[in-house]
This record gives sequence, structure tokens and C-alpha cells, in this order.
Amino acid sequence: PPLLSTAIGRIAPSPTAAMTDRATQLRQAGRDVVSLSVGEPDLATPAHVVAAVKQALDQGQTNYTPVGGTAAMKRAAMLHFRRDLGIATGYDNVTVSAGGKQAIFHALMATLDPGDEVLIPAPWWVSYPEIVAFAGGRVVPMRTGAQDGFRIDPEQLARAITPRSRWLLLNSPANPTGAVYSTQDLSMLAKIIEDHPRLLVMSDDIYAPWRYDEMPHATLAALRPDLADRILTVSGVSKSHAMTGFRIGVAAGPEWLIRAMESLQSHSSGNPCSISQAGAVAAFEGSQDFLREWRDIYHRRRDRVVQQVNATDGLATPAPAGAFYCLVDAALHVGAGRRWSDDQALALHLLDHGVAVVPASAFGAAHCGLSGFRISFAADEALMDEALARIASALEQP
Ligand code: PLP
Repeated sequence: PPLLSTAIGRIAPSPTAAMTDRATQLRQAGRDVVSLSVGEPDLATPAHVVAAVKQALDQGQTNYTPVGGTAAMKRAAMLHFRRDLGIATGYDNVTVSAGGKQAIFHALMATLDPGDEVLIPAPWWVSYPEIVAFAGGRVVPMRTGAQDGFRIDPEQLARAITPRSRWLLLNSPANPTGAVYSTQDLSMLAKIIEDHPRLLVMSDDIYAPWRYDEMPHATLAALRPDLADRILTVSGVSKSHAMTGFRIGVAAGPEWLIRAMESLQSHSSGNPCSISQAGAVAAFEGSQDFLREWRDIYHRRRDRVVQQVNATDGLATPAPAGAFYCLVDAALHVGAGRRWSDDQALALHLLDHGVAVVPASAFGAAHCGLSGFRISFAADEALMDEALARIASALEQP
């Protein structure tokens, strides 16, 4: 349409949200659809968080707050970065926004000039390339595959860096691949990063508690504090504390970048939601013990889903090391001469048979020669069993 900007023309609506909305519409029309498309925990937000929000409302915390969050919220964010991610950070190095998504959006908008390159391991989270494109940057896909745990290696990084490289986006544990970078992996990447002083690194640690390998969480800013002036670490409460609807995300990084992100935020959303901040403070300051219990639940579900997917003809998935998604390879069903021309067609067929999934192509999987779909296992076990049974039968039906 002629009245839209060129920037908006460079992006498309989130395909995960689109698939979830489509499933909701079908359900409202009376169809029986199980959705494994959405990336959110099915577990209930902890009661003490809900209580803190109610109390904040009763106390009249209904006004604007400081742009980057209340003092209590910033201190809670600092506690989270130090205790949970091993990143010692100052008050002026943290900011709070409407979800991790907004922190990423503001950071990229505040730093990218037209043509700047952003290195993103593929398959990637759907919003990374779209935000980069909106900001006028150029996405440089870095291919990964199941055989290397969907992780990039140092030589690959070294080859991809050019004088125009502005950012490297790291996401561990990763959506949609479940990739988890070890301390050793990150140390080796850091040796390349240290030679390129104009390269910024975003470490998206939003899935940090959900790792199934018993290894401690590794993150670049904790490992290499000497590079901290070029690292933005993004985290939040959405995925860890089952608080997706609260819209609170936190970021830690160099003061110049935090200040720029807050400058932008002061003109976009103004401040993170006041009562949601009260909830997030309670989430970070309260006991974290339940996370272990939840991790065991996700771990069990992961094993169950992986087993069922691999028992289905023509489907394969490695066990994801972290997060709560399986990226299912359906290559035997998709492509030239196969039953479905692309994985979007396959996903629509599955939707017709009562299961909502997101095609792998939505995550840039085509860059890696992978076609299939992502399923979330942050869903009830009985529902997942039903969904996987429907998928198996749908693959055999017209
Ligand atoms: N980063 C990744 C990799 C995600 O998968 C998501 C949510 O899907 C986010 C960031 C943003 O989460 P939120 O904005 O809910 O904090």
C-alpha cells in the first residue's frame, strides 16, 4: 500500500503468532485444534508473583514509572544477572522493557545504520531477522545443523565477519533448535570476537533455566568481563517464570547502549508496565526453587516428544539440549517430488488435521537445508500425546 513506509515493507507479521491466531480462530469456529505452536509455558505463574501484582494495584502503583524501570525493579534485575547468569553489573548498566523482545528491538534500532551486517546463526528466532530488516540492517545467516548441535564454530564466525559487521546474535539455550553453548564453545568464539572491536554481541539468555544437560549456564559477559563494553545480555521472566503476558524483559550492557535504549523507550512505550514490574521484582527476589521442579517436568516432556517424533515415519529430531522446542526434520515428506512442496504446505495440512505447528522455514531453516516444523513441549503431556498421534495419522491421510 502506497501510504506505508519502506521500512514496514521490509518485514512480515510473526509467523508463530499468525499460526497461533489461526488455531484460535479455528477453535472458536468449533474445530478441535491442539496447538503446539506457541512459545510459552503452560505452567501457572507462581502465586507469590500474582499476589505481588494485586498488592501493587491496591497500593495504587498505577502511574508512570522511570523509563528504564523502578529502582526496585532495576535492583531485582541486577540480582538476577549476578545470581542466575553470573554477570556482575551496575545500576546504570541494566534496563527493563516490555519483554525481552522490546529490549532487542530497541538495541538494534539504536545501533544499526543502513547496510550494517548482523550475523545470526540459523535456524533463528523469528523476530531477529525482522527487527534487523526493519532497522535497515542486513542479515548474514550462519548455517548450523543437527550434527553440530546447531552451534556455530569459531572458524565460521571468523569467515563471516566483515568491516560492516555490527552485531553477532547469540541465543543459548536457543529457540527453535535447543542449541546450548558450553563455556568452552563461548571461550573459543570470544577469541575471534576480541579481535574485532567494532563488533557488538547480543546474548539472548531468555531460556537460561531450561537446560537438560546438568551443565552450568554459560554466557559470554560472565566469561569475558573484559569484553563487557560490547555485550548486551537479554533476559526476562516470560519463559522462566511463566509470565509471558506481563511483558517484562531485562537487559544488561554498556552504559552508552543502555542509555540509548532508554532514550528510544522514552519515546516508544514510555516505561515498562508498573504492576508487571512489581510482579517481576517478586519473581526475581522470591525463591527460585520451583525452577528445578519445572525443569524436571520439561525434561520428561522433552524425552517423551523426542521418542514419539523419532518413532514416526519420516520425522526425525535430535534431543534438544535446552529451551522447550523440538525442531522436527520432515525432509522425507517435503520438497521436489515429495508429497508437500514446502513445509508451509505441510503445516497447513497438519492444521487441517487438528494440530498447529510452525513450519521450520519461518525460522530460516531453509538456509540450512532443513524443512519440517517446530513443536513446543511447554504443553500438557496428554495434549502432546494427542497432537503427536494426530501428526502421525495426518502424514498418512490425504
Ligand atoms: N528471545 C527468544 C529467543 C524468544 O524465543 C523470545 C520469545 O519467544 C523472546 C526473546 C522474547 O520474549 P519476551 O518478549 O516475552 O520476553
